[in-house]
Amino acid sequence: MSWKCHGRSNAELITNLQKHGILSSKPAAEAMLKMDRADFVPDRHSSYIDAPQSIGYGATISAPHMHAYCLSMLEDHLKPGMSILDVGSGSGYLTAVIALMVGESGRTIGIEYVPELVEKSIEAIRNGPAGQLLESGTLSIHVVDGKQGYPGGAPYDAIHVGAAAAEIPQSLLEQLKPGGRMVIPVGKSMQELLVVDKHSDGSITEQHVMGVAYVPLV
Ligand code: SAH
Repeated sequence: MSWKCHGRSNAELITNLQKHGILSSKPAAEAMLKMDRADFVPDRHSSYIDAPQSIGYGATISAPHMHAYCLSMLEDHLKPGMSILDVGSGSGYLTAVIALMVGESGRTIGIEYVPELVEKSIEAIRNGPAGQLLESGTLSIHVVDGKQGYPGGAPYDAIHVGAAAAEIPQSLLEQLKPGGRMVIPVGKSMQELLVVDKHSDGSITEQHVMGVAYVPLV
């Protein structure tokens, strides 16, 4: 189903992701419609291709179908007013989409270890629909080792991890709110996308969603 959602425009790409049942969240679709992927990819001609693309420094902007899957699985944890951590924020695209979903009353923090990517992502976001959120500090992106998380903004309603960890970092589990959800690719050569829920009593459950191929969390 995935990899088949190419569009000739941002709107057509999003319609195709919805038609294939990958983008099931309406608020996510609305935010993705507002945020033009073309502002986050080096080659604007490939903006709406449903595949990951290199953004330099060994990083990629994930494929639209992966962004759509992750946002849809996190939908209930990306509501206005909620606090979110995006680990390995890379291009900044997904961080900015999340920021639009949680809005001015929420808090979105992106963390990325390549300073040049952080700088570029902030530049790309500044001139777009999430620029105001960046200005007000509701959305921020920091140069940090993602394995440590970002205790300053914890606890989080949702944590999205955009790079594959060998195992789930303990610090990220600790920074997840009871009732919160984390989506994280885990594994080395064989990776799996996991949905990790922390329940109100603090217990943790994991669901294995599908096999994936992400850049490693170094
Ligand atoms: N969601 C991003 C994914 C970028 S690829 C996007 O779609 O643009 C994964 C990112 O994780 C890369 O930018 C890489 O530099 C970053 N990364 C890898 N290991 C990291 C670490 N330990 N801490 C922070 N970022 C890391």
